[in-house]
Amino acid sequence: MAGYLLDAGFSVDVIDVLPTPYGLVRSGVAPDHTKIKGVSRVFDKIASHQRFRFHGGLEVGSDITCEELARQFHLVVYATGTSAGRELGIPGESLLGCHGAEDFVRWYNGHPDAADQHFELRHPRVVVIGNGNVALDIARMLVLTPEELRSTDVADHALNQLSGSMVREVLIVGRRGPAQAAFTSPELRELGRLSRADLLVNGGHEGCSSTAPKMPVGGADLAVNSEIIKLLEAHTRLPKDAKSHRIDLRFNRSPVALVGDTRVEEIHLAVNDLRFEVGGDVVAVPTGQEEVISCGLVIRAIGYRATAIPGLPFDFRLGLIPSRDGRIIGHDGTPLPGHYTVGWAKRGPSGVIGTNKKCAADTFNSIMEDRERSLLSGAARGSLFRDSHVSWNGWMNIDRSEVSAGLRASRPRVKIVRHSELLRAARGC
Ligand code: NAP
Repeated sequence: MAGYLLDAGFSVDVIDVLPTPYGLVRSGVAPDHTKIKGVSRVFDKIASHQRFRFHGGLEVGSDITCEELARQFHLVVYATGTSAGRELGIPGESLLGCHGAEDFVRWYNGHPDAADQHFELRHPRVVVIGNGNVALDIARMLVLTPEELRSTDVADHALNQLSGSMVREVLIVGRRGPAQAAFTSPELRELGRLSRADLLVNGGHEGCSSTAPKMPVGGADLAVNSEIIKLLEAHTRLPKDAKSHRIDLRFNRSPVALVGDTRVEEIHLAVNDLRFEVGGDVVAVPTGQEEVISCGLVIRAIGYRATAIPGLPFDFRLGLIPSRDGRIIGHDGTPLPGHYTVGWAKRGPSGVIGTNKKCAADTFNSIMEDRERSLLSGAARGSLFRDSHVSWNGWMNIDRSEVSAGLRASRPRVKIVRHSELLRAARGC
């Protein structure tokens, strides 16, 4: 979005709650996906523009209010993402050892808010709930070798704990079948090529096709999902090398309870059948059969919600900023002049990083229409930021400091994971 706005002649101020830029690219994309993380170079190019300013370490809603921003800028675009995890709503979810994916992902990516998280890695089995790419990222991270992890920018605390982990098996639990899985084929292929983990389907006892219903004819995901079925079928036919670790894709199972004294000790899964609804939806229906699985850690990877920003409309049911064509919709159902949204905060947590480019173009088109119709405010460029914010130069100090620590440790970078240390590094100390 900043790139589009700069090209259209606007000056752009980017505000981030963290002292570091790149959002999901730094704190969400799995550390071993270095190619995807490389998209940060595109952002660097945008940031080098004369009319671009970065203000890290500022929270909108507390350090600066939405009203102040609206008064000081022609327009404000909220690209605040979806930072909260969804919950299962089953008994035992509050036991120790049950976490949202957001905590685990931020922890291994060195997000300052997750630096003190602790995950139970002494039990040989972890259960990850959900059949999306986040579930696959988490499972992969749990079985990479210490050497593979060292070659990434995974946070030091996660590198140490994952290297000493006693986890040998990761169960990925999907409530429906492989044909309905939300993960994509390149990510599934990766799971089949891990150096020390075998990929099994439903415990390795049954082929995936026996649990997979026919695809709804004409479904939008037909091509992708039929490719996934083919991949899984081909994979189940391969001889297994009996590697030290395994990832087990358990389809057609819904978590119904977590059980333990103070910590999770087991998870109860309902075994499902799948039913086709009129209109093509495929729904999971419990058969009455249940499985009990012993585990020490359960991670929900079942999607995210945005969090409400004080002073900005919010749709609590959908967990999104309400909008039409990127224009934020006020309580009276009409667009709030000069307020826009983009990315996951606008349309929910779906799609890959490139999807957000198209999403930004759509919101940008609305902004241009509104400029044409003189609907943007006449505000001057804001000068309300505190002195202590982290500028782009401050971020470059952090970057240099992380990369040189990485050089000393023979790693790509060693991330600074404490707020106070990030601010110190930003000042060049
Ligand atoms: P997602 O793709 O929406 O997947 C969520 C999964 O959770 C679905 O399988 C869903 O099953 C399941 N689920 C939801 N509620 C559940 C419940 N109550 N009980 C059991 N299962 C439940 O979400 P995500 O994995 O968080 O990924 C978000 C987006 O980021 C996606 O677009 C993803 O592709 C993208 N991403 C991409 C990459 C990559 O490109 N490598 C990496 C990470 C994330 P149902 O289908 O049955 O609802």
